[in-house]
Amino acid sequence: MLTDSPSAVESTLVLEPEVRRKLKSAVRGSVLMPGDEDYHSARCVYNGMIDRRPSLIIRCAGVSDVLTAVRLARDNGCPPAVRGGGHSAAGFGVCDGGLMIDLSPMKGIHVDLVQQTARAQAGVLWGELDHETQAFGLATTGARISTTGISGVTLGGGYGWLMRKFGLTIDNLLSVNIVTADGDFMVANASENADLFWGIRGGGGNFGIVTSFEYRLHAVGPMITGGMAFYPINRAREILYFYREFMDSAPDELSTLLNFLITPPAPFVPQHLRGVPVVAIAVCHAGSVEDAGRDLAPLRRIGPPLIDQIKPRPYKSLQRLFDAAGVFGYQVYGKSGHLAELSDDVIETLVTYAPQVTSPLSIVMISTLGGAVGRVGEHDTAFSHRQTRFDYAINSVWTDPLESERHISWARDFGRAMRPLTTGVYVNELGDEGEERVREAYNPKTYARLAALKKTYDPENLFRLNQNIKPGNR
Ligand SMILES: Cc1cc2nc3c(=O)[nH]c(=O)nc-3n(C[C@H](O)[C@H](O)[C@H](O)COP(=O)(O)OP(=O)(O)OC[C@H]3O[C@@H](n4cnc5c(N)ncnc54)[C@H](O)[C@@H]3O)c2cc1C
Repeated sequence: MLTDSPSAVESTLVLEPEVRRKLKSAVRGSVLMPGDEDYHSARCVYNGMIDRRPSLIIRCAGVSDVLTAVRLARDNGCPPAVRGGGHSAAGFGVCDGGLMIDLSPMKGIHVDLVQQTARAQAGVLWGELDHETQAFGLATTGARISTTGISGVTLGGGYGWLMRKFGLTIDNLLSVNIVTADGDFMVANASENADLFWGIRGGGGNFGIVTSFEYRLHAVGPMITGGMAFYPINRAREILYFYREFMDSAPDELSTLLNFLITPPAPFVPQHLRGVPVVAIAVCHAGSVEDAGRDLAPLRRIGPPLIDQIKPRPYKSLQRLFDAAGVFGYQVYGKSGHLAELSDDVIETLVTYAPQVTSPLSIVMISTLGGAVGRVGEHDTAFSHRQTRFDYAINSVWTDPLESERHISWARDFGRAMRPLTTGVYVNELGDEGEERVREAYNPKTYARLAALKKTYDPENLFRLNQNIKPGNR
């Protein structure tokens, strides 16, 4: 992957044949090496620009395999790449030459209807968790693409359609089971190892491998009101000014994304409107259909959209609305950041650069935070910048590696223009951009506390193939 400041996603692991043989019999899942049948499919991650070859992949079937894998990494001084759903755009789920710990076979989900909670293992994807919880009309805040892993999303914070009503994913996280760099199995929650529990709620995979997550669930749907309304690109400025005002007084039930995209060749797009640059407002109203009608009325007053797909629909179908963007193998390069406001300068920059998009697969997303996200204290979890109003993600996406330069240039130039207007960044939206950018994801006090926690739980920085926080003093 072309990066602005590449970090080392390389490590080495050479095992004697006898050790490999013992390892294979010690693992319930599978142990893969170059040449093995499933090796190539196992090393693939979402971003097609990432083409790395670990010397060993341990596909974990359960906690016991994770313990074995972490102890192997520790004993050989080999920083492992850890893969949950494999959606990290930076490709941190796979490494060159070293050990890849693949959690994707760990698919257990248990919904507790009495406690209204769900316990899910680390390889579960959001679509799978929604499938189990929505059977009972329950859900928790989770990523807006069904193929994204619960692991990476949760550990970085967790944006989703329900965040303004119920908070980020981490605000609904009750407990985790985790294997630390020492190879110890621990429980972390509000009463046990509370310092660790604070750190994993925003600090990413820096403190160990989480083997399962317990979430608080809420009554959601199954029918909600959601979808997208598409407007001509020449109305972008006007739509953005409307969007700013609209979201100023929106209730917590209403979450939105404003997107610049090119209409896909999908069944709902009439032939003559396919391949057209548009500005689209995507919404999820998690209240009653009547309330949604009232709260979405201002949207109806800005004139008829080219295409209107906002309607009552199952929550699960809304969670799949953007799945076409989650296809493994696309080339991906992005720039992102927080916005304190949708200022006039931000709007002008968006309407200047977004229409210059170079690929029909690319998308620019402006999501609105606020609501329950901002009601959690800035230092209660390791997720910073709680008062941020908006977040932007410029995702350049294409298929032909030979075209990389122009698609990357568009995102880079766009990102450069947005930079002076940016107030921080969401760690899960970072590429492989280096230590300084990771620091921008946290307020200084939180970053210092995370570094000190890292020193306690991972002083050798075994878990460093990630958005890394180096061990430090408080
Ligand atoms: C198409 C797409 C849509 C997205 N939509 C959203 C969205 O709606 N909301 C949102 O918040 N984010 C979203 N993201 C960003 C997403 O949060 C991150 O990409 C996240 O890292 C994905 O998690 P994963 O488990 O799939 O990724 P992976 O690549 O498997 O892992 C990501 C990072 O987490 C570490 N890790 C993974 N599992 C564990 C574990 N069990 N224990 C410890 N460390 C672990 C890995 O080492 C790696 O550093 C999206 C990303 C993509 C590509």
